Amino acid sequence: MIVIKSPIDLEILLNKIRGNNKKIGFAATMGALHDGHISLIKRSKEENDTTVCSIFINPKQFNDSSDLEKYPRPIENDLILLKEVGADIVFLPDYNDIYPQNYIEPEINLSGLDNVLEGLTRPGHFKGVALVVKRLFECVNPDVAYFGQKDYQQTLVIKEIVKQFKIPSDIAVCSILREKNGLAMSSRNIRLSAEQRERASFIYKMLLQLKEDVKSLPLKEALNKAENILLKNEGVQIDYLTIVNQQTLVPEETLNLGKSSVALVVVDYFGVRLLDNIYL
Ligand code: AMP
Repeated sequence: MIVIKSPIDLEILLNKIRGNNKKIGFAATMGALHDGHISLIKRSKEENDTTVCSIFINPKQFNDSSDLEKYPRPIENDLILLKEVGADIVFLPDYNDIYPQNYIEPEINLSGLDNVLEGLTRPGHFKGVALVVKRLFECVNPDVAYFGQKDYQQTLVIKEIVKQFKIPSDIAVCSILREKNGLAMSSRNIRLSAEQRERASFIYKMLLQLKEDVKSLPLKEALNKAENILLKNEGVQIDYLTIVNQQTLVPEETLNLGKSSVALVVVDYFGVRLLDNIYL
């Protein structure tokens, strides 16, 4: 496994690999790796000759400076995990490598995808995601880039940037890896106590129940029931629970089961923001 900090060194190495007709897969992360991240690397390894993983905590996507400060940075352990899973190249840039002094932010239009849901509670977040992903794609130029369905809205934002800037990479969306109790894996889960983490299974249970309920109940009724399931749990505040179109994120009036809808939920659970979603 090669660890590279400089975008120029990375470009030289990847050009050599590409020259040998090797396919390059890429997973972008902010570190504090867990099995969810590792599942992206595993899939990339299955489908490509060389797998690159980046670790970069992007300040431009944090609208809350204390969230940025608190973000875990267990880099040595991350490198051990990446070596174990067989990542070929780890890209570990500094802030100035990604945003050099002469960097000019490109105009980015996210077609309104950034003004809803996560965008409402985290203004500027998706613009920051778009900027970093665009820069990372310039550095890695992968054949395929792997992103998690867990950050559903983010996958749409990334597809939009790829389209807008004509980036010649395919985007693969990977299913959500869960803890044994169903809680979606997240770097933030370590902020929960062991007991809270165990109890947090109620989020996925609610989503499974909702998926069943929409088959027989009117949409509003199914959503009300789901909200009540969430609110029965101590320490929960619902940020949003909604059923939207998979492409546009516009709330659904009626369901086209198995085709176009996704249920998205975000709760604050004892001060930790937990995201999850399910296709309906
Ligand atoms: P992050 O380090 O949080 O920016 O996440 C890096 C990538 O890992 C993103 O594409 C995430 O969607 C993905 N990811 C995070 N958690 C999971 C999970 N539980 N299952 C699958 N992918 C995940």
